[in-house]
Amino acid sequence: MRFEIMTLFPELVDYVLSVSIIGRARASGAISVTTHNIRDYSEDKHRRVDDTPYGGGMGMLMAAPPIAACHDAIMDRLPKDASVRTIYMSPQGSLLNQKTARRLAKYDALIILCGHYEGIDERVIEEFVDEEISIGDYVVTGGELPACILVDAVARNVPGVLSSEECFELESHSAGLLEYAQYTRPPVFRGRAVPYVLLSGDHAAIERFRRESAVRRTKRKRPDLIL
Ligand code: SAM
Repeated sequence: MRFEIMTLFPELVDYVLSVSIIGRARASGAISVTTHNIRDYSEDKHRRVDDTPYGGGMGMLMAAPPIAACHDAIMDRLPKDASVRTIYMSPQGSLLNQKTARRLAKYDALIILCGHYEGIDERVIEEFVDEEISIGDYVVTGGELPACILVDAVARNVPGVLSSEECFELESHSAGLLEYAQYTRPPVFRGRAVPYVLLSGDHAAIERFRRESAVRRTKRKRPDLIL
């Protein structure tokens, strides 16, 4: 699967998405991540990409022409028969969740637009954005970190990205429950012992413990998921 990221700060995205599991998935070819500097598509002699909003108001807006030129260039390079979705990272979008991450992992390519400053000219959204996605009901300074979160969440659902040990099937949000409590060595830490059943070797009992633990902690931490 391909991730094509339109940004003013490619170095930020490149670094975040070059380490750990996502970095490995890129190296193995399970996914590809390409950053595109929107500034490279500015026709302004000073490579400006922003301007003041019509009607007045605070701050600067990212102008439509360089974003559109960047999007056109990406589309030209994608195979004609590829299934492609263009996403704008936005605090006004629908909230990212596991269901969305799974749905988006089925596309051949995601083109992800990172806004900055006060945001982008509305006509960009009208012209080619298929959906707007938010990482939460708060505002951050740019779409780069939200885009990295989206890529990470989607990529984990792409075959070949997680090894079997990193399998997501039992993870929180995969089956409507949070994951059960987990423990590793030492068996006693500051007087707190690992639940005995986990050391018992009784696989059926361990399964039962984990199921009960998942239900209990979901009820306690996220009762809205159970209703
Ligand atoms: N003026 C905009 C508004 O009130 O909706 C916020 C602009 S924000 C400072 C700059 C950029 O950060 C946005 O264009 C968007 O790409 C990104 N951004 C900010 N908060 C976000 C969030 N919660 N989820 C996704 N992207 C976000």
